Amino acid sequence: MKTAAIIPAGGKGKRMGARTPKQYLTVQGEPILARTLRVFQLSSSIDQIILVVPEPDVTDVRTNIVEYYGLSKVKVIIPGGKERQDSVKNGLRYVDEKVEIVVVHDAVRPLVTAFLIEQVIEKAREFGAVASGVQITDTIKRVEKSGKIAKTVARDLLWLTQTPQAFQREVIIEAYRRAYEDRFYGTDDASLVERIGVPVWMVAGNRNNIKVTTREDVILCEAIFGRRDG
Ligand code: C5P
Repeated sequence: MKTAAIIPAGGKGKRMGARTPKQYLTVQGEPILARTLRVFQLSSSIDQIILVVPEPDVTDVRTNIVEYYGLSKVKVIIPGGKERQDSVKNGLRYVDEKVEIVVVHDAVRPLVTAFLIEQVIEKAREFGAVASGVQITDTIKRVEKSGKIAKTVARDLLWLTQTPQAFQREVIIEAYRRAYEDRFYGTDDASLVERIGVPVWMVAGNRNNIKVTTREDVILCEAIFGRRDG
């Protein structure tokens, strides 16, 4: 049975205010997208990659990233949708019946490790659905619109959720089918599974596995790769 990775890279990078979407920014000489894809290319647990990019970028990404960096596990490069969830949904159409486990991972988290990918796959085989994340260390407060603190929230059961997330194929397909039937949009894939009543398990990830969202994240990412590559 095979394992497929869906890599949503269909964002247009509006939040950072840069002209280049963040997945194409270069860190330590290589585009973030190439770095992320390479971890999946080199992971022996991954058989194929379904890459989702903004529609106008399909040809460029094929030439300048997939072919240039020899990312032979990329089976298809397809256009994304309006929201991240729409992009993943497009990717799911290319998951065939020989696939047992689907891993979803944000293109803009290049610091993911092969070890974490293996862990989420292993757990998904056993339990059906898993997310990865890290326990919260800061104090969490609920704050009213006025700025007044309403409550300090107990943090011992709170986790920051990241990708990779991994699912048995039928579980994620059914969760997406139901989400679209109900017009539900979640902020991650696991939440779509949770809402259909299938338990999702948390795997402890890595604090370094940041989602490159702001300029500060790019600097941090640059520093971590600098240390690692050096
Ligand atoms: O900005 P956001 O947190 O949603 O980005 C997470 C990932 O989802 C990024 O890799 C981004 O390129 C991708 N994305 C996508 N399609 C969209 C929006 C974001 O594939 N329409």
